[in-house]
Amino acid sequence: MKSLLFLLLTCSNTAIGSTYMNYNSYNHDNYWKMTPEVVICKNQTVFTKNQVIHALEAWGEKYTKIVIREKCNYKIEIGKIKIIDGKKLKTGEWGYTSYFFVNRDIGNKTVREHDSALVQLDRNVTNVNLLIHELGHAFGYDHYDRKDDVMNSYEHYDYSGKYLY
Ligand SMILES: [Zn+2]
Repeated sequence: MKSLLFLLLTCSNTAIGSTYMNYNSYNHDNYWKMTPEVVICKNQTVFTKNQVIHALEAWGEKYTKIVIREKCNYKIEIGKIKIIDGKKLKTGEWGYTSYFFVNRDIGNKTVREHDSALVQLDRNVTNVNLLIHELGHAFGYDHYDRKDDVMNSYEHYDYSGKYLY
């Protein structure tokens, strides 16, 4: 059975150009069913392909290729992480990642097996940590509420990408 989980945006932290991750403390149990392809939709024009590569490298997760697409809809596509604009975001949200997954029981744990993700990003936010945060969700990482951590759920970007208290 498939279930769809919507995750609220949020944010992260630190100064522009630096990303702080407590990577070894994250829950690494969730995984992708297949190696995903990353689709950059042209209407998400804030982050360049190089910035997307940088964000993917921050996670060190596998992907098959990065495709830039002229026109995108907001539909989830199996096997793909789609990065699209934030027109459908609610007020006050800078980003929002939704994904399909199936729960799998492994040993005594239930983990998520992902097969698609849609990353919506407000085009007014230029801080690449937003992209890293949301791609983290796309790859199955959850919030990690430690100060300055890129996956924390409570610190916020302002539209110039600065730290906002
Ligand atoms: Zn989040």
